[in-house]
Amino acid sequence: MTAVRSVVETRGLTVRDFLASGRPSFSFEFFPPRTPEGERHLWTAIRELEPLHPSFVSVTYGAGGSTRAGTVRITERIATETTLTPIGHLTAVNHSVSELRQVIGSYAGAGVPNVLALRGDPPGDPQGEWIAHPQGLHHAEELVHLVQSLGDFCVGVAAFPDRHPRSADFDTDAHYLVRKLAAGADYAITQFFFGADAYFRLVDRVRRLGCEAPIIPGVMPVTNVAQIERMAKLSGAAFPTDLARRLHAVSDDPAAVRAVGVEVAADLCEKLLAGGAPGIHFITLNRSTATREVFHSLRG
Ligand code: FAD
Repeated sequence: MTAVRSVVETRGLTVRDFLASGRPSFSFEFFPPRTPEGERHLWTAIRELEPLHPSFVSVTYGAGGSTRAGTVRITERIATETTLTPIGHLTAVNHSVSELRQVIGSYAGAGVPNVLALRGDPPGDPQGEWIAHPQGLHHAEELVHLVQSLGDFCVGVAAFPDRHPRSADFDTDAHYLVRKLAAGADYAITQFFFGADAYFRLVDRVRRLGCEAPIIPGVMPVTNVAQIERMAKLSGAAFPTDLARRLHAVSDDPAAVRAVGVEVAADLCEKLLAGGAPGIHFITLNRSTATREVFHSLRG
C-alpha cells in the first residue's frame, strides 16, 4: 500500500466482491429526507425491504451537495444498525477538494467502503452550464481518481442509456463513461430508463471501446405520473408515449397507476436480466410497496 492510499482505512463488504460472485445483484436506492415524516417513511421502507436481502443499497447525495450530513448519517446508520451493505453517493457540486476528502474520510470512518462518484448537476438549474467550485473538480472522472487515491474504496459511476442531457452524442457519452471506468471505477449504475434496447445499445458501445466493467441498470417503478414525467425531463430519460397514455388513462386512481408501473417495470427487468444485465438497481423514492411487488414478480 502506498503512503497516499493509506490516508484512510476502509472495511466492510464491497459491491466489487458481490459482482465478482457472478450472481445477479438486486439493490435499492434511497434519498436522505428533509423532514421527520420523511425520515419515518425512509426507515419504514428500509425495514420492509431489508428481508429481501438486497445485494446492497445506496443513499443519494442531495442536489447542490445540500444533504451532505444527512447522506453520511443515513449511510452510517444503515452500515451499523441494519444487515444491509450501503453505498454512499458523493457529488463534486459546491465542494472544494479538501471538503470532498473530508466526506470520503467520513464514509471510511463509518465503515462504508462503497462510494458512487458523481459530478452532480449545476445547483439551481440542473440543465444549466456546469461551473466547478474554484478549488473543486470538473468531472466525475477526477472524483474517481480522488476517492481511489484515499484508500481501498470500491467506486461506482453513473451511466446514461438515453445519454447524458449535456453529451453531444451517444459515442461521446460512452467515451467519457469508459474513461471514468478506466480511471479506477469498478462498475456503473445507469440512470432510470424505459426501453431495454437503450440499455443494451449502451452496453454494446462500451464493450466496443474495450471495457468489460459491469453496468447495472437503474429501474424506477412508476407510482406517480406527474413526478415521473418531471424526473424524466430533468434526467433526459426518454418517456415512451404509449406508457404515458396508459398512465394518464388511470391517473386519478393511484392503485391503478402503481399496477401499470409495476407491470412495466417487471417486464423491463425480465428483459434486462434475460439479456445478461448483471443485476437491477431499483430507485425506490423511499417507498417499498412498488419495488417489493416488482421484486416478487421477478422471483415468482
Ligand atoms: P460526468 O461523468 O462528469 O459527466 C457529465 C457530462 O460531462 C457528460 O455529458 C459527460 O459525457 C461529460 N464528460 C465527462 N467527463 C468529461 C471529460 N473528461 N471532458 C469533457 N466532458 C466530460 N446527482 C446528485 O446530485 N446526487 C446523487 O446522489 C446522484 N446520484 C445519481 C446516481 C445515478 C445512478 C445516476 C445515473 C445519476 C445520479 N445523479 C446524482 C445525477 C448526476 O449527478 C448528473 O446526471 C450529472 O449531471 C452527471 O454526473 P456524472 O457523474 O455522470 O458526470
